[in-house]
Amino acid sequence: MTIRKPATSVTAPILEPNINDLAKRLRFTPQEGRIWLDDQRMLLMHASSLQALRQELIDSLGQERAHGLISRIGYQAGAHDAEVTKKVRAGSDSYSHFLGGPQLVSLEGLVRCEPIALDIDVSAGRYFGAFHLVDCAEAEVHVKTYGIATEGVCWMLTGYACGYTSTFMGRPILWREFECRATGHEKCRVVGQPVEDWDDAARDDLRFLQIGELLNWSGSDPSHRMVGPKIRERRPDTPANSLGLVGISTGFNAVCHKIQKAAPTDATVLFLGESGVGKEIFSKTVHRVSKRSEGPFVAVNCAAIPEALMESELFGVTKGGFTGATASRPGRFERANGGTLFLDEIGTLSWASQGKLLRALQEGEIERVGDTVVRKVDVRVIAATNVDLGEAVKRGEFRQDLFYRINVFPIKVPPLRERRDDIPLMMDWFLQRFCKKYDKVITGFRERGVDALRNYRWPGNIREMENMIERAVILADDGGALDLCHLFTAGEELDASSFVLRPNGNIDSNSESDEEEDAVASTQATLSSLADTEVESLRRAVAEAKGNLALAARLLGISRPTMAYRLRKYGLR
Ligand SMILES: [Zn+2]
Repeated sequence: MTIRKPATSVTAPILEPNINDLAKRLRFTPQEGRIWLDDQRMLLMHASSLQALRQELIDSLGQERAHGLISRIGYQAGAHDAEVTKKVRAGSDSYSHFLGGPQLVSLEGLVRCEPIALDIDVSAGRYFGAFHLVDCAEAEVHVKTYGIATEGVCWMLTGYACGYTSTFMGRPILWREFECRATGHEKCRVVGQPVEDWDDAARDDLRFLQIGELLNWSGSDPSHRMVGPKIRERRPDTPANSLGLVGISTGFNAVCHKIQKAAPTDATVLFLGESGVGKEIFSKTVHRVSKRSEGPFVAVNCAAIPEALMESELFGVTKGGFTGATASRPGRFERANGGTLFLDEIGTLSWASQGKLLRALQEGEIERVGDTVVRKVDVRVIAATNVDLGEAVKRGEFRQDLFYRINVFPIKVPPLRERRDDIPLMMDWFLQRFCKKYDKVITGFRERGVDALRNYRWPGNIREMENMIERAVILADDGGALDLCHLFTAGEELDASSFVLRPNGNIDSNSESDEEEDAVASTQATLSSLADTEVESLRRAVAEAKGNLALAARLLGISRPTMAYRLRKYGLR
């Protein structure tokens, strides 16, 4: 076995950085039934469950396949953790940054890692690492089931090391285990270096890491199956991504799945959900992936059109058709001919308009106001509402026949608070968009800003987040990161009830938080820091608006009297 150990390798005792920055990213929110490591959901799993799982896999698939499967699961975890340390340790030297990975595995309770040798030069693509793994949970459960093994069994950890280091380095790094607690050694010993630095026999271990299989990569090119730098840019080809929408949560994917089913048909789709959940974006998506995508997409907000004008808006008008009609013009139905007509807030239509709409839908024909000519229209209708139309029918406010006509394919869009997994993706999406729009460089979100956004209830859903991040980008300094003082500026109420890991290892409720500065900074704002935040945002807004209070109030999304009240409250005026 050749291991080309570089002469520059660090052999002196390697100082481990303080783990607190990583530990602070671990949060327990039992009221949500979730544990978070940064923006990733984690699980506390019984070691005995891992033991049972391994045993079932080995016994049912055989050792070779079980080894591959477990390695790939480890790889994925390592790649995810590399994203965490990238955020937390960005800016520190590459050794401290890299050692975040071994520290995270320790935090996750799998093993204690002791560096033996480490040589890293990312820009040069150079990597050599050797570690002792102490008290490895994987070896322990293996021995419990199968007794002493003849070769290393720490498959998940070796896979983790491959995933973490390959993502960290941006090039394939292969790890192998040379001594294992399961084979009777005191500690496991693993070594990692670039794939091409290993000999052929060692490279054979790559067969365990069929990354493409695990991540469902498209394309059959076998070279894609190797761990490669491309992995860092990979985006799993979920329905969400093929539609160009942002999300990864199950609720979001369920919506995308239904859209993919309904889009190719001409069925009427009815989007249900609270205000601001993005019903219009989803409707546009239905249009875009339908066979009508070349035709027009015409949107009507039924709540925004006065009742007296509704008929002429929808169906058009002929010159002289009614007082004030000085010219003939087509309505939205005609303009949507060959395409899609989106009727937002359909629940606000008057009884009379509902009847006319029903006739247009049933007959596929419309008459302009004041005209006697019947015009054929070929329109696919998508409707949306935030009211319970079934209840409105019962109350006699909505026509039952129209309800049946539009309720062919209902799709419920969950509120943002029920798809929290999407929040980090959306934050990033809006941040990129508004940085571009305002030509600003914002490095990202401060840690407590991330926490607060993820824990906030979002009564206004995605539209509220969009507005909040747009304001924050305007308020923040160029080259800085978004913090609470830029984000929560419109008097939003933060729910301070997440749990944090204290330096002593205990889990405490944040709302009972004491003076421990570390813990406080790591969670969402306490009341006192919220006040600071508000003062800071008021000051910034006034400065940004050069003392113009009306403009400052607009920047913060509040009224001028509220602005004046708050300035007085904090003695700023
Ligand atoms: Zn081992």
